Amino acid sequence: MPIVRILIIGFLVWLALVLATRVLNRAKLKQQTKKDQTESPAPRIVRCAECGTYIPEKSAISRNGKHFCSDHA
Ligand SMILES: [Zn+2]
Repeated sequence: MPIVRILIIGFLVWLALVLATRVLNRAKLKQQTKKDQTESPAPRIVRCAECGTYIPEKSAISRNGKHFCSDHA
């Protein structure tokens, strides 16, 4: 077997490995970003029952099934 053929085959094997790794990494990354999106959905916005200000549910104070902003808690 001529050395050139060995080199070409070696190069092709290396190229296949690089491409396979790249595709796998991309698939993994895609999966991860998808997972991140499902884990942290857009924050829910609620309305203060007192002044009508829209606030993220996280920082809203709930009382008697109603949401209030920090000023009207
Ligand atoms: Zn308020």
